[in-house]
Amino acid sequence: MSLDFIPDKVKKLEVYYPIDHIYRVRLETNESFIELPTELKRKVSEIAVDTKFNRYPDPAARDVKEAFGKYIGVDPKYLTAGSGSDELISVIVNSLLEKGNKALTFTPDFSMYAFYCRLAEVECIRMKQPDDLILDIDEVIKKANEEKVNIIMFSNPCNPTAQGVSRTDVIKLIENVNAIVMLDEAYMDFWNQSLIPDFQKYNNLIILKTCSKFVGLAALRVGFAIANEDFTRVLNATRSPFNVNSLSQGIATEVLKNTEFLDECKAKIIESRDELHRSLKKIEKDYQNNIKVFDTKTNFVLVQTDLADTIFTKLHERDISIRRQGKNYLRITAGAPEENAEFICEFETILAEETAK
Ligand SMILES: *Cc1c(COP(=O)(O)O)cnc(C)c1O
Repeated sequence: MSLDFIPDKVKKLEVYYPIDHIYRVRLETNESFIELPTELKRKVSEIAVDTKFNRYPDPAARDVKEAFGKYIGVDPKYLTAGSGSDELISVIVNSLLEKGNKALTFTPDFSMYAFYCRLAEVECIRMKQPDDLILDIDEVIKKANEEKVNIIMFSNPCNPTAQGVSRTDVIKLIENVNAIVMLDEAYMDFWNQSLIPDFQKYNNLIILKTCSKFVGLAALRVGFAIANEDFTRVLNATRSPFNVNSLSQGIATEVLKNTEFLDECKAKIIESRDELHRSLKKIEKDYQNNIKVFDTKTNFVLVQTDLADTIFTKLHERDISIRRQGKNYLRITAGAPEENAEFICEFETILAEETAK
């Protein structure tokens, strides 16, 4: 068969579908639970009608970069648009690294960093996070310099740990390594330690943002890299020329202009997150030997439990999806109030059943 023609680095890769079934309660992928309001949906349909489907999209993604830039207070000339920030990770790894280069990331962290390194044949060192899941920045600096890595890739706050590194510590890292720092701020809308206001101060910093989380546009696949002019030029020169389609550009532009809606989304998601966290903490009190609920700076909550496998399976049987993280962790996205309530109720029931045995 064709296997002889397929390189080892991908020979055994299986197709990965993060979601393979639409569950009734969906707390698995850290999306927003908020749908676009009717008024915005009407505008979306107008945009669709006006789209010239026979023409390629704007290769510079001008309008959407302008709308996003305005929202975050960054000149669009420092932005690169991608088909999700996922694509931008791939562009960064492929264009800014060479064979023989080394990358540093953490375990656990967003798995796509290591994945794209593997495809690019870049060695990726995965530094284990401490047991409390709080990164020790001095250790990271030491490791990066010892290993002479060319890039450090991490999410802050971190998916899946929900913990965060302070601005001061991130700056310390940026200033004390001889490497690109790819800082993925996918969840920084739920915390307040963003480096976006200062990105121009550093010649080795690239920040990633996505519209898939609090903005609520996961369906469109729109993300951005924020970086100085040199990086931005190279990223725009090496990405695929028409990487963000016309519909996504048009619709994201409209939604990003609607700052009132965005602020409202953020507030609602944080409220849901707090509610979910509070409820889990309450359950933790009764099951101290079985679960540990971590604090959260994101729109999800991480739970450590020896019963992860059973809980995950039993929730699926009840048509509730959450994310299993390694052997002993569960990650639960803050959902609509009724989704949270249903999850909490079933979660507690399962715990009671399992611990009564
Ligand atoms: C969800 C997520 C992204 C977003 O990826 P998109 O491709 O923009 O949807 C990026 N980084 C992290 C850490 C994430 O959790």
